[in-house]
Amino acid sequence: MDFDVIIIGSGPVGLSFARALSDSDLAICVLEQNNELSLSKPKYDGREVALTHLSKKIMSELEIWDRIDPDSISYIKEAKVLNGMSPYSLHFNHEETSENALGHLIPNHEIKTAVYESITDVKNITLLTETKVESFSINDGGVSIELNNGEILTSNLLIAADGRLSNARRAMGIPSEVKDFGKTVIVCKMDHEEAHNNTAYECFHYGRTLAVLPMVGQCSSIVITISSDKAKEIIDMPDKQFNLDIQTRFRDKLGEMKLTGDKYSYPLFASHADYFHSERFALIGDAAVGMHPVTAHGFNLGLRGAYNLSKIIKLSLTSNQNYYSVETLSEYNRKHQLVTRPLYYGTNLIVDLYNSDRVTAKMLRRLALRFGNNFWPVKKLIMNQLTETN
Ligand SMILES: Cc1cc2nc3c(=O)[nH]c(=O)nc-3n(C[C@H](O)[C@H](O)[C@H](O)COP(=O)(O)OP(=O)(O)OC[C@H]3O[C@@H](n4cnc5c(N)ncnc54)[C@H](O)[C@@H]3O)c2cc1C
Repeated sequence: MDFDVIIIGSGPVGLSFARALSDSDLAICVLEQNNELSLSKPKYDGREVALTHLSKKIMSELEIWDRIDPDSISYIKEAKVLNGMSPYSLHFNHEETSENALGHLIPNHEIKTAVYESITDVKNITLLTETKVESFSINDGGVSIELNNGEILTSNLLIAADGRLSNARRAMGIPSEVKDFGKTVIVCKMDHEEAHNNTAYECFHYGRTLAVLPMVGQCSSIVITISSDKAKEIIDMPDKQFNLDIQTRFRDKLGEMKLTGDKYSYPLFASHADYFHSERFALIGDAAVGMHPVTAHGFNLGLRGAYNLSKIIKLSLTSNQNYYSVETLSEYNRKHQLVTRPLYYGTNLIVDLYNSDRVTAKMLRRLALRFGNNFWPVKKLIMNQLTETN
């Protein structure tokens, strides 16, 4: 079978990219190793994804946003960053912006369902599930892909959206920085006695972090990052003990807390490819940049890059240029690297600073919070980065 564009990976970024190209004349194929049910009815995975205003705008334009159940969208009105057990916090309020919220918190499976629905019945998108890429080759004549069932597909352009450990990236010889934090993220949902008032908290305790993110109702998403050798202890902790532990670490701010459902865990590492393109090939989503979740930028960045790449490709089609040439794709690389690099290194710096027990780091942490609160240009810069309002 022959296509114009083949995308490896039907994660939320791969499918959003396919959707963004669906108004072109290109024949698009998405390859996914998992089965169709995992896409049409994805299971709850404990991830509550914070989406920026820019992501909402892109998803609205791609007719994805309106497919999300409005009752599942929680509005983050305020955010507080706490250092250790100090009562002092760096505080952001949506009233300091022109928006009615700093961002939106949505269960990952709701986002995935909406993105999947947006590409079904689109006539120039073919989705092949339970299909794994075995190998591929790229030369002047085009892209040739061998599937696990022995079938060969061809295309003009190959897009890798196969996640942060991207095999396609590796096969293309694109170097990538991979930072293993040696930590695990544990996520779960908890009900609580007091209202959260739509405030998100990020508490940097020593050696571990605790984020409490406001969900719809009297309920929050709990995100713990902890050294991997201690993760099992938390996962296996009996509910009663876990409830009390989180309640105490959160200084009883929400009164009594109660775990509802399972705990989910994810290994914590970040990655950034040195470049995102070559002839007839581009990286998008986590395959390009895998972010530490503390600044909640992974999907937001992936979506932004995929959307911008689709725009560049569509522009090349109307100006009679090759949409798969190095020149066209390097435009995407240049623009996206300008966005991703500061965020990637900035996030990793914050993570290192707030996880270090060195005296200088502790001092810097305190200073950083005060500086952030009292120096308006810095606060505005952080707020714009977090919310992507402009
Ligand atoms: C705990 C946690 C919290 C997070 N919170 C946020 C947040 O608040 N905000 C935010 O913006 N982001 C957040 N993220 C990040 C976000 O979830 C990811 O950035 C996003 O899922 C990446 O999507 P993707 O499509 O690039 O990759 P993935 O979702 O990893 O999808 C890759 C797909 O490729 C398929 N695949 C791989 N190899 C092959 C192959 N050889 N053949 C066929 N198919 C293949 C896989 O099966 C998979 O379906 C969070 C992540 C975690 C772990």
